[in-house]
Parts: sequence; C-alpha cells; structure tokens
Amino acid sequence: MKKVNKTLHITRGNVTREQALQVQILARTCMRHLMKKQYELDIPRGAQHIIPIEVFHGNGRGRSTGGRDGITINIGSGHFFYKSFNEYAAFNADPVIGKVAVSSYDDTLLVIVAHEISHYVQYRYLPSVKRYKGKWQKPHGYAFQSVYRYLRRDLVNPLITRA
Ligand SMILES: [Zn+2]
Repeated sequence: MKKVNKTLHITRGNVTREQALQVQILARTCMRHLMKKQYELDIPRGAQHIIPIEVFHGNGRGRSTGGRDGITINIGSGHFFYKSFNEYAAFNADPVIGKVAVSSYDDTLLVIVAHEISHYVQYRYLPSVKRYKGKWQKPHGYAFQSVYRYLRRDLVNPLITRA
C-alpha cells in the first residue's frame, strides 16, 4: 500500500501517482457538484477534501466499490475494454443513468468514479437527510439512483457526450 497523500492510497497493481491523482480530482469534482444547494443533500463544507480513496489496477479483474468509508477504484477493470459502459441491470436501460457510450479511458473513469461517489454519499450523508429516511439503504435503490442521476444528468453526461 502506497500513500500518495493524506486521503489517497495505491493498494496494488501498476498505478502511477498521476493516475491516482486523476481519480482524486474526479472524485472531488463529483463531490463539489453534489454539494450545490439545489440538490439539498446537506453535504458539509469541505467534504470534497476528506474522501478516503484507494486506487488499484486489477488487470481486467475485480471491481470498484463505494461505501460510507470511501471509494475504491479499479483503473484496470473490464469496463475499460468496451466502448459502452454498462450499468447495474435494474437501471441499465434508463436514458440518463443507464448504459452510456464512452470513447476513452477518461470517459470510463469519470462514469465509474461518479457511480462510486454516489454510493459514498448515499451511505455517509443520506441517512441524515429527511427525505431519504428509510430509503437510503438499498444498494442501487431510490437514494442511490437519485444522487447518481444528479451527477450523470448535470455533470457526467454533458462531459462525455461530445459531438
Ligand atoms: Zn454500485
């Protein structure tokens, strides 16, 4: 395990410092987006700076995860082999948060980080948001999908859908 900075670690595989830092920048960008007043998620000031992040390269194996203790991103997952990023089956057909055409490593990475940050916010911050009371627990349920939708609709999709 290699420490890049206070909240960023490389756990295994061939990951450069620059690749790890790119993940951190994307995670902060996603978090700052979700902190906008309009979403009413009550994420505290400075939250973008304290996201625990682990990055690894799984050589085509293993998956990324997100939970209340942070996100783990596999920059060498199977997702990077394909030009279409497939989502969790229950909402893969959704035109906003479902499968999406990706044209580069950067596109795919952004979608993955947005998905895992949504889990982090879901488990870390939504339990104390009134309108999610009793609705935040299901891994890819209502709460996850609503947060992920804020990211996909207003940040991620416009960035990766290039003419
Ligand atoms: Zn998920």
